[in-house]
Amino acid sequence: MTPEEFREAGHALIDWIADYRQQIPQQPVRAQVSPGEVRQSFPGQAPTEAGNFAALLRQLESRVVPGITQVQHPMHFGWFPSNASLASVLGDIASSGLGTLGISWESCPALTEVEEVVCDWMRQLTGLSEAWQGTIHDTASTACVTAMILARERASDFSKNHQGLQAVPRPLVVYSTSQAHSSIAKAVQLAGFGQDNLSYIEEDAYTRAMLPEALAAAIESDIANGRVPAGIVCSVGATGTTAMDPVADIAAIAARHNIWLHVDAAMAGSAMLLPECRHLWQGVEAADSIAWNPHKWMGTILDTALFYVRDTTHLERVMSTNPAYLQSTADGQVTQYRDWGIPLGRRFRALKLWFHLHLDGIDSIRARLRRDLDNARWLAEQAAAAPDWQVLAPVALQTVCLRHVPRDSRGGELSGGALDKHTLAWVNEINQSGQAFLSPSILDGRWMVRVSIGVESTTRAHVEALWQLLRTSAERAAGRR
Ligand code: PLP
Repeated sequence: MTPEEFREAGHALIDWIADYRQQIPQQPVRAQVSPGEVRQSFPGQAPTEAGNFAALLRQLESRVVPGITQVQHPMHFGWFPSNASLASVLGDIASSGLGTLGISWESCPALTEVEEVVCDWMRQLTGLSEAWQGTIHDTASTACVTAMILARERASDFSKNHQGLQAVPRPLVVYSTSQAHSSIAKAVQLAGFGQDNLSYIEEDAYTRAMLPEALAAAIESDIANGRVPAGIVCSVGATGTTAMDPVADIAAIAARHNIWLHVDAAMAGSAMLLPECRHLWQGVEAADSIAWNPHKWMGTILDTALFYVRDTTHLERVMSTNPAYLQSTADGQVTQYRDWGIPLGRRFRALKLWFHLHLDGIDSIRARLRRDLDNARWLAEQAAAAPDWQVLAPVALQTVCLRHVPRDSRGGELSGGALDKHTLAWVNEINQSGQAFLSPSILDGRWMVRVSIGVESTTRAHVEALWQLLRTSAERAAGRR
């Protein structure tokens, strides 16, 4: 494709994207395809001859669009928000269009230095001190794998040991809670600790936050039993109920035993843009690493995960490679981001954040986050006041955890398996209808429904419409029983 052909197709594609975004509210929220349907709409073999762009666009529309669950839809209340602000989409296009290669400072000085700049802007915007230095990973999952390797290396120096993991004399342990995102268990496994060495600490029965005294006791007991405490993953906004582990208390325990403390604020990091929310991670300055995703609630398009550490010397010691073909005369004077994480080749992700901040402005981003906090409070108040509805966890941010608990045939509250059946019946009915989308999840062994508010286009009117839909669907399902 020549630059001239690109210009013509590119203009058409931008028009198409703008139209597509405008009509999202008319689409069903959840993709209405059955398994295999998208794959079957494609030919079995790759095209051999060049085709034209208009035909490609038509196929994008007919084959791909039906298979998209519309997470930018104002009635999407599932998982966590995955906003993709159009300003950041432009940054993504610029990033691809520049065709850069990030394998060393020399391979694209601008890629390294813009990343340094935006990570520092984001540090300031979230109230972190100058002790932190950041980089951009693809996801919080990758950031957590990196953090767990850093924890392992601080406790063991595996990488300096020629037998690697085989030589470990005593098991190394990581602590978290059952509320932590599944990526934490995966990171612990991938970093070589083994699932048996991930210790889930007792949580508060209502807030689901880690109990620091239980953590301290578990660590003492492990030490007495010949195990080595190596890492703690503290959830600030755990996925199920947005539980907030008490960072300051946990950090004090981590410091006492020289344990690496990683703060996973994948979703809730966006809230730290608001000074009034920062008490939720009070004590964070004493952690060793922090990960959060602007690609969630804040709305810089995937993949934009910030990873901050205080001890970059340890990070580079663990992650660095220095083959002859990557050396240059700038070495020693510049940041080599390949030594700050797992991949060598890196994308110019910083452009997405820069475009987003420049074109939308932090004031409007903050106003939107505050709107969502208000909407979540409103919904929680409605549910708390309505007969048969229960709000199951504190609404720390923008997620409301609900159950509809109607009366059973004997006039008591529906419970057990019958309650599960009822919950799944009404939530699945809503999801299948395409009118709205919600994520059911399990809390205390029973199904519940998470309402995660925060899509860029979701206003109070949408949340009111959702509340109406929840009531009619749940009450209809109860009437059918
Ligand atoms: N941590 C928490 C609390 C999350 O909610 C999620 C995803 O929703 C993750 C980690 C993983 O994020 P990512 O998809 O960026 O790996």
